[in-house]
Order: sequence, then structure tokens, then C-alpha cells
Amino acid sequence: MKYDLHVHTHYSRCSNLRPEVILKIAKRRGLDGIAITDHHEIKGALEVKKLNKDKNFEVIVGEEISTNLGDVLVYYLDKKIDKIDFDEVVDEAGKQGALVVIPHPFRTTFIRKRSHKFQAPLGSVKGKIDAIECFNARMLFNSDNRKADRISDKLKVAKTGGGDSHRLPFFLRNRHRIHYL
Ligand SMILES: [Zn+2]
Ligand SMILES: [Zn+2]
Repeated sequence: MKYDLHVHTHYSRCSNLRPEVILKIAKRRGLDGIAITDHHEIKGALEVKKLNKDKNFEVIVGEEISTNLGDVLVYYLDKKIDKIDFDEVVDEAGKQGALVVIPHPFRTTFIRKRSHKFQAPLGSVKGKIDAIECFNARMLFNSDNRKADRISDKLKVAKTGGGDSHRLPFFLRNRHRIHYL
């Protein structure tokens, strides 16, 4: 099954992708499903899910939450998680039966002041997460993905991948980089 597990809609300030466009492109790319993971918002995800009439295509309602330890992706949400404390987010996800994934744990950025690296050793949160995102198409350095891949192997934690698409050209450009849940 081919899924892109990290997609932002225009509900994220940094994205311009509209729900109907996302759905059209994802299907054209031959994906079996996508997870919509807007920053602190699930409205876009619910919209895409509602728009999708194809029973063979899955739309996962997710959210990307900036916690005190760094970004966290949560999948299969019924309602938005408002917490920002990592442990509280994990608790809330558990209550909703949702999955917790650490995206781009070693992402290097130069533009933003906020670090995009996860602020705790991944081993210390191993028991609280379901997977680590080991492929993020927006990484400046492939080595940051490889590092995540190595540590997931070492910790025996499941791996996910995503485009982290925010803008249309990027979403198209990465259509061959498809990853698996
Ligand atoms: Zn992020
Ligand atoms: Zn993102």
C-alpha cells in the first residue's frame, strides 16, 4: 500500500494546497491513501476525508503538533488535540486510539529560528511512539533522513515516510517518492 503520510493543506499557514487538488493529485500519483497533517488543525483533513468518495482510497485525519519536545504527527484523530506538552499529547492520542509518529527528528534548518530537531533522545520516548518518519521530502540534507533511518533500526521502531508537501509544485515534483506505512 502506498501512502503519503505527511501532507499539509491551506489550513496550515505555510501551505497553499486546497483539499480538492490534494485528492486529485494523490489519486493521479497512484496512492492508496494519504494522511492530512496540518499544524494544530484537523479541519482540512476532515474536508479532504469528506470530499473523498472512493472506498479504495483512504484519507487519514492527522495533525502535526509542535510540542515542547518538537514536532509530533498524530494519525486517526476524532478530534483536534490542543495540548502542547509531549506527554499530554501522547496521552490524548492514546485516548483517541490514535498513532504517534516523530517527523523529521534530525531536520536541519537555516531559515527559521525554531529548531526542527526533536529535543529529546528518541530512545527516551521509544515506548510512547508508534513510528519515526525516516523519509521527509523537504529535508535539506538526505543524511538527516538516513540518520533517522539508522536510529529506527537501532531502536526497532517502525518507519514512515511523507512528502511534507506544502505547495503544489513541490507536491508534484515528489510524486515518485512514494513511501509505505
Ligand atoms: Zn514539521
Ligand atoms: Zn509538516
